[in-house]
Amino acid sequence: MPGTEPLDLQAIVDDIHRELAPRLGEGKVADYIPQLARIDPKRFGMAVVTVDGQVFQAGDAGLPFSIQSISKVFTLTLALGKHGENIWKRVGREPSGSAFNSIVQLEHEHGIPRNPFINAGAIAVTDRVLAGHTPREAIGEIVRFVRYLANDEDILIDAEVARSEEATGYRNFALANFMRAFGTIDHPVDHVLGVYFHQCALAMTCIQLARAGLYLAASGSDPLTGHSVVSRQRARRINALMLTCGHYDGSGDFAFRVGLPGKSGVGGGILCVAPGKAAIAVWSPGLNQNGNSLLGSLALEMLANRTGWSVFGA
Ligand code: GLN
Repeated sequence: MPGTEPLDLQAIVDDIHRELAPRLGEGKVADYIPQLARIDPKRFGMAVVTVDGQVFQAGDAGLPFSIQSISKVFTLTLALGKHGENIWKRVGREPSGSAFNSIVQLEHEHGIPRNPFINAGAIAVTDRVLAGHTPREAIGEIVRFVRYLANDEDILIDAEVARSEEATGYRNFALANFMRAFGTIDHPVDHVLGVYFHQCALAMTCIQLARAGLYLAASGSDPLTGHSVVSRQRARRINALMLTCGHYDGSGDFAFRVGLPGKSGVGGGILCVAPGKAAIAVWSPGLNQNGNSLLGSLALEMLANRTGWSVFGA
């Protein structure tokens, strides 16, 4: 029967890499964090980790890069585990339709960020991770959690990137001060942002990142270790938020083109989830006008087309 033969995922990722090769370097590398501006814009990596543990990779899939906002998926998972549904008293679940670092909406909506994936929302979530901890402990907990998810003890934070962002993170300080004034965050702004900048500075390879996201493709449990990370319902809900909010004001377009939940980072990475099939990570530092990886989005669109993977229908 046509369409029932197993997918040759290695051939698919190799083809995508080869077809995109002439375009490497397109897009604009983020430069508001000075340390990120130093990255070679022609890097490209892609890794697919299937729920049965196969790994398919192309290009620079084994090189660590700054995961930036992709970390927001992991801290949301952690904060939900600690505080449950109380999280939603401090952060909403609607797409923002504005830029990741927008300030204007926050005043209008009384200091409650639209969703946990814009910067304001993620800072509010990080404040919840910090509850009961020193900043150092909270950073340690986040790193341990991501290592546990990826089943890989080699994952580290790039302290240079964290320092670089701390020195230039004016907008994030504005957002956090604003939320502190409204009572959305409980801890001192410099503590919350200290943790937030470090989580964003996690350095991971595409392979590690896809592996860490595998629980979201497998109903909340790590299919390879058997560890239960979140409930089935919570995994679905995190995926729903990634689909509706994971690419800021480019979320609708990403859902339209790719049809899978995804979370981007300004370092040029995207973590994408094909429920029941695989987790996928791509990395290409050049960004589009919404601050999402230009070729990374395209690579995922190509992958979705060629595999038929979509949350919207067979
Ligand atoms: N650390 C970055 C910031 O707060 C993360 C933004 C992003 O990846 N979109 O600006």
